Amino acid sequence: MIKDLTWNYPHIAETDEGKKQIKKADSFCEEYKKFLDRSKTERECVNTAEIMLVNAGYEPFDPAKKYKAGDKVYEVNRGKSILATTWGSADLTEGVRINGAHIDSPRLDLKPNPVVEHGELAQFKTHYYGGIRKYQWVTVPLAMHGTVIRKDGTAATISLGEEEDDPVFYISDLLPHLSQTQNERKLSEGIKGEELNIIIGSLPFDIAGLKGADAKEAKEIKSRIKLNALKLINEKYDITERDFARAEIEFVPAYKAKDIGFDRSLIGAYGHDDRVCAFPALMAELATKKPYYTTVTVLTDKEEIGSYGNTGLNSCYVHDYIAFLAQNKSVDEKTVFANSCCLSADVNSAYDPTFPDVFEEQNSSWLNHGVVLTKYTGARGKSGASDASAEYMAKVIDIMDRAKVFWQIGELGKVDIGGGGTIAHYVAEMNIDVVDLGVPVLAMHSPFEVVSKLDVYNTYLAFKAFYE
Ligand code: MN
Ligand code: MN
Repeated sequence: MIKDLTWNYPHIAETDEGKKQIKKADSFCEEYKKFLDRSKTERECVNTAEIMLVNAGYEPFDPAKKYKAGDKVYEVNRGKSILATTWGSADLTEGVRINGAHIDSPRLDLKPNPVVEHGELAQFKTHYYGGIRKYQWVTVPLAMHGTVIRKDGTAATISLGEEEDDPVFYISDLLPHLSQTQNERKLSEGIKGEELNIIIGSLPFDIAGLKGADAKEAKEIKSRIKLNALKLINEKYDITERDFARAEIEFVPAYKAKDIGFDRSLIGAYGHDDRVCAFPALMAELATKKPYYTTVTVLTDKEEIGSYGNTGLNSCYVHDYIAFLAQNKSVDEKTVFANSCCLSADVNSAYDPTFPDVFEEQNSSWLNHGVVLTKYTGARGKSGASDASAEYMAKVIDIMDRAKVFWQIGELGKVDIGGGGTIAHYVAEMNIDVVDLGVPVLAMHSPFEVVSKLDVYNTYLAFKAFYE
């Protein structure tokens, strides 16, 4: 057949098989949106995932216990990453099947001494986390999430700005009437890092009712608006200014995930990258009952800053977890690693018709064309890439074709325009076959990213097929 000599990846909804998926994709994504709304930080993702795993009968992994095929275990790493396993029927020396996604997203962290008063406004100074376009983060409602460890060792868990009657927080920008000078800046400097200051209050501490030592102390403090904010923070969380040194506080967009378009085919939300892969990975793990290969589902932290730190993939925690699995079955761990394979589940950029100049159409990933295989990432001459072998590509494609998954293959953008990386090369370092596979995202790393429901659903189908 002449037509079989050529190939284009179809729009899913233009195929008979794909039309049948629309309803299933809708209901899968209702659950995904709920997951997003209650999981805006890596810690919250771990909490939500742990609850889902425990409800499904997973038990904390105990190296001393003996496991049989079908048993389900999990392990939390320092509250910020989580691993889950369903034991397979095959001998562990045949390798494990790993699916790894990251659950940290670009955001604004607080500086260690964050509270300031400037021009009669109390503000938090921030230090951005991950690759953001700073101008996108001003004049949007922000919510405060995080953990503070008090002096007595107890933890204050913060989530403020998400409920209907919660206050939100805000970074201002200039009005057009006075932005003539700012308009001359390059876009990358339109808003500078030191301008990402979050407004937290504007009323002064009222000293009128104070008596004795309290009245004397209060009078000596000049920044009364800052003082008032600290008083309110203290009342709510029982912490003081000094306690910010023992804190991890993240500001994220305060809005919920929403359907986009008259046809409701797309989802707009904060943090699709990479919870849009983490949620399908977790759902595929939960759906896998009697796998041949033992599964290892990894929801990891720190990818957005290069995977550095002991909760990221550039630490040995995943390696050691798999080594413990090998030890549990009294088999050689090196053989387990050598025979294992992994999907590095991360997003790719979706083709954006508004900015065609940065994309090479034939090698872009397209919304509604399915889960995207990214053979290699990196920049320019594949610098820093883990380039999957033809043999491993064939294996993954075969798994997806057999399961009738809609998939496509693409690159980030034009070769000399930019680049990026994922956790793939850290997995490759363990002598494991790995390739990137995930959802195409429009406006990646913005405060409101966009994905297609059909792509999310097919990503779930791909991960499930990989485990089964
Ligand atoms: Mn990512
Ligand atoms: Mn990213």
